[in-house]
Amino acid sequence: MLDLDKRAITYLPGVGPKKAEILQKEANIVSYDDLLHYFPYKYVDRSRFYRVDEITPNMPYIQLKGKITRYEQLGEGKTRRLVGKFTDGSGVLDLVWFKGINYVLEKVKVDTEYIIFGKPSEFGHSFNLVHPDVDPVEQAGQVASGLTPFYNTTEKMKKSFLNSRAIQNLQYTLLSGLNWQLAETLPQKLLKKTGLVPLSDAMRNIHFPATVSLLRAAQLRLKFEELFYIQLHMLKTSQMRKKALQGILFSSVGDYFNTFYKEYLPFELTNAQKRVVREIRADMGSGRQMNRLLQGDVGSGKTLVGLLSMLLALDNHCQACMMAPTEILATQHYATIKAFLKDMDVKVALLTGSTKKKERERILPAIASGEIQIVIGTHALIEDTVVFSSLGLAIIDEQHRFGVEQRSRLWMKNTKAVPHVLVMTATPIPRTLAMTLYGDLDVSVIDELPPGRKPIRTLHRYDNKKAELFEFLRREIQKGRQVYVVYPLIEGNEKLDYKSLEEGFEVFKEVFQEYTVCMVHGKMKAAEKEEEMQKFISGKAQILLATTVIEVGVNVPNASVMVIESAERFGLSQLHQLRGRVGRGAEQSYCILVSSYKLSNETRKRLEIMVNSNNGFEIAEADLRLRGQGDLEGTRQSGEGLELRIANLASDGQILQYARDCAMEILNEDPDLLSEPYQILNERLRILFSRSISWRLIS
Ligand code: ADP
Ligand code: MG
Repeated sequence: MLDLDKRAITYLPGVGPKKAEILQKEANIVSYDDLLHYFPYKYVDRSRFYRVDEITPNMPYIQLKGKITRYEQLGEGKTRRLVGKFTDGSGVLDLVWFKGINYVLEKVKVDTEYIIFGKPSEFGHSFNLVHPDVDPVEQAGQVASGLTPFYNTTEKMKKSFLNSRAIQNLQYTLLSGLNWQLAETLPQKLLKKTGLVPLSDAMRNIHFPATVSLLRAAQLRLKFEELFYIQLHMLKTSQMRKKALQGILFSSVGDYFNTFYKEYLPFELTNAQKRVVREIRADMGSGRQMNRLLQGDVGSGKTLVGLLSMLLALDNHCQACMMAPTEILATQHYATIKAFLKDMDVKVALLTGSTKKKERERILPAIASGEIQIVIGTHALIEDTVVFSSLGLAIIDEQHRFGVEQRSRLWMKNTKAVPHVLVMTATPIPRTLAMTLYGDLDVSVIDELPPGRKPIRTLHRYDNKKAELFEFLRREIQKGRQVYVVYPLIEGNEKLDYKSLEEGFEVFKEVFQEYTVCMVHGKMKAAEKEEEMQKFISGKAQILLATTVIEVGVNVPNASVMVIESAERFGLSQLHQLRGRVGRGAEQSYCILVSSYKLSNETRKRLEIMVNSNNGFEIAEADLRLRGQGDLEGTRQSGEGLELRIANLASDGQILQYARDCAMEILNEDPDLLSEPYQILNERLRILFSRSISWRLIS
């Protein structure tokens, strides 16, 4: 059978080089297989014909059968249009075209029967259809049966005559050219067990569904398949890794760990922290390589767990490193860890993009010789120039910005044995997403905050009530507290965003003349940023205005009020992250979400969730439900949106779990997938995941 994956779309009748280029650029469609997997986003019922005299206002798309009796050309310039007087015997309707007038005049003949499809709009006393689909009645079998698919298209695609209808035609050409037969991509045994429909049926019915129930069956099969292969890939990779990779055996708990734990730990660990440390110790002491995801809400004390794990590495004559996504965060971690270890003889270094050449020349050889035991840094850590003497543990903080690729670059940092990897996330991610993005990791959860924390009170205020807000802030500052004020900084809108930050700065300085107001943002030089930050950390400044640079990182226990300007422009998870910057001391903390009065329903709901919940997992789930996966922060920020073509992590959690269970069961039965019924799986994995460059999911 034809290898659809390798067959370039240019070979398809109706697709020339120009269209092929547009399809690739705009829709990522390169091969026949890509086209087949370009699924409709909705369907419209075309199972019946309407009569002109049945049309009422506010109807959805409808189809009619009849003739154009004559054409009129009206208007000039922008209002120039072609009107076709259409009738089916029951009444008359105007078909209107603003574009492609000559094309229509040539193709659509008067007094010839056609099938017309479009959305009627009311116009004076009559109705019209603007830019309807027009098909010869001979094609009724193709276009007018059952549910009609609608495909996403971009402006550029439409300009090149690749509208939804054209895509539908291409699908038809492709599928009918294959006699509607496709090679099966799931094992027969699995199809039997699950009762899913064969691929050929699924593809036919996803593009040309005859009935709603056939469509559902097709969707189920394709969603399952998409999620199944991701899970199979994840589970197989992790199984292979566990088998093939000798982990470095951390057999002993020694002086570093014990001394710190017994003598210098400033507080008792929470039960959750203790449990997680035990899990990590067991893992690193198993002889297998650890790949663990540590999830814990903001402020749950992950850094300390990380530090204890690093000390275990040191006890076993290994080095450890911790990688953070931003310089500020790396710097903060460095300061925190230096402070924790100040009375112990441990060599710690900081390495970031702005580490000076001279400093670098000092640090790098000391890392290579093993003299420096702990390195904290940013992406700079994975550069080739950084060579360790014996890296035993790599910690990645705020992980959702690092993909599998980057994690694996850390593994290469030890040529003799693969270091253990601990990935820490402060943004709790919904289970379905975790399973999909990090399904190859074992998971630990810190589900408890350190004692003595008062829950943060969250309020929503409109920005026309600024005076009251200032009043409130003044009272808190008088009590000795400090205040963060955060402004959005959103790609594409930087200029305006910086402007509102600067303007805000002027206002705050004016209103709070008796206090010190400082400001940090991404455009400042590192030294200047540091200086402003320091003013706030030391308590000299009472108010810190910032863009989201403080999102991950800073820890100022005395800061107990977080004001978020234009809160409606932030995602829920981001708001939750920001809120986590307060509530670290013993005082009652506040988070004030300031928004404009005009809000969409969805936004209002989102802000309500923030006001009502302090639980990061709950918020992440709600975020996923409200916004859908495509928009999830983290996946989007790193430029690698989770590209599922049909499954939806917000609504298909059950299918995902089932797919994962099936994958697990098969791997238990036949770990190498070499037995006859499962050979097809290896083949599919190779096809799907060797394209990993275009497969953004694991890039
Ligand atoms: P996150 O999980 O967000 O990274 P951090 O590790 O930054 O949290 O911890 C937040 C704050 O809580 C820090 O000031 C840290 O010193 C403190 N902390 C951590 N563990 C405990 C504990 N068991 N008891 C009291 N305070 C703790
Ligand atoms: Mg942290």
